[in-house]
Amino acid sequence: MRRTLNPDLVLDVHGARGGVGVTFENGRIVEVGPAKEGVRLPGKALAPGFVNDHSHAFQRGLRGAVERIEPSRPQDDFWTWRERMYALANELSPDSIRRVSRRCYEEMLSAGYTSVSEFHYVHHRPDGASYEDPNALGKAVALAAEDAGIRLLLLPVAYARGGLLRFRDISVQAFLHRVDGLRQWAEGRPLVEVGVAAHSVRAVPRGWLEEIGGYARREGLPVHIHANEQEREIEECLSEHGVRPVELLAQTRFLGPNTTVVHATHSDARELDLLAEHGASVCACPTTEGNLGDGFLPAVEILDRRIRLSVGSDSHVRIDPFEELREIETNARRLSGRRNVLLAEGEPSPTPFLLHAGWGRAGLEPGDPADLIEIDLSHPALADVAAANLPSALVFGSGSGVVVGPWAGTDRT
Ligand SMILES: [Zn+2]
Repeated sequence: MRRTLNPDLVLDVHGARGGVGVTFENGRIVEVGPAKEGVRLPGKALAPGFVNDHSHAFQRGLRGAVERIEPSRPQDDFWTWRERMYALANELSPDSIRRVSRRCYEEMLSAGYTSVSEFHYVHHRPDGASYEDPNALGKAVALAAEDAGIRLLLLPVAYARGGLLRFRDISVQAFLHRVDGLRQWAEGRPLVEVGVAAHSVRAVPRGWLEEIGGYARREGLPVHIHANEQEREIEECLSEHGVRPVELLAQTRFLGPNTTVVHATHSDARELDLLAEHGASVCACPTTEGNLGDGFLPAVEILDRRIRLSVGSDSHVRIDPFEELREIETNARRLSGRRNVLLAEGEPSPTPFLLHAGWGRAGLEPGDPADLIEIDLSHPALADVAAANLPSALVFGSGSGVVVGPWAGTDRT
């Protein structure tokens, strides 16, 4: 069905235009241009939906519960937080993971995310035995996304050692066999795409990285991995392999243009060069990285090397795309003592770079999926803001409360 939306303004990374209609057909944008007809959206702007490129939906269940010291643990850090997270992960069932994931995805949609990359590593029963359907938990997450109406890139995650029994597969072949099964199941589900992932260089050995990287290349799949979130992971990698994590990813041919490295917080210059040389992307998760005491994204170095950047809400301590983007620039300002730091070439403002990281695109274009959000121009945070300044006002002066929601009137499937 073809229809046109006619909002007050249409936003892109550089500004806002009035008198523009957006026309959809079969879940895709087919036209953006002068329009007098169509559904009027008075007081509203349309913008691309945000892409949440790194999520562990079940961790939404920790919200508010881990912001205090345990008496037995006077020093809280990433590793003690992880024990609390494991306790939660051990309790999950197919029903409960579907419930918590749906709640999380609904919150994402209300905050302006219209698609999510779910880094899914809880696969088996608590004792490590498979469910009758070995992909029962992954499918429960996909059904939650369909229930909520968010576009999902489901990333089944390989885990060979450490963590909980229920995270692990007995061999990389067994893992990839499950991935094949999940991909078949997802065919014909328009909101669900399946990629592949390895948890980290901590959790999988060299041989698994080679196999998974090769599988992703052969099948043309997106492939994700956590790397360099904590210094300890780098020390362990150096002592096991004699190289740093991203160097190991390059050696095992895990890195390529379809690869997303999540965090990359403590990457050194050589590792960042490798990411750039291989055309890999980085996904930053600033609110989680701040909450866990991880450190700062090397944002200036990433921008200088033109490494593609995305954002994710990861542990879901907060679900607000504007806040993730603002943190990236704010951290860069605190570290440099300057303002307007993350300037893409030829840009006077960091806003285009940041919004591009959030949307994965520069604006609404014909051919794009009809994933868009409505912004409430009468919200107090946006009152008296000139149209030309709206994109920067969103990034620097507002939060997810300005989002009315995804535009739900179009059949996105
Ligand atoms: Zn993560």
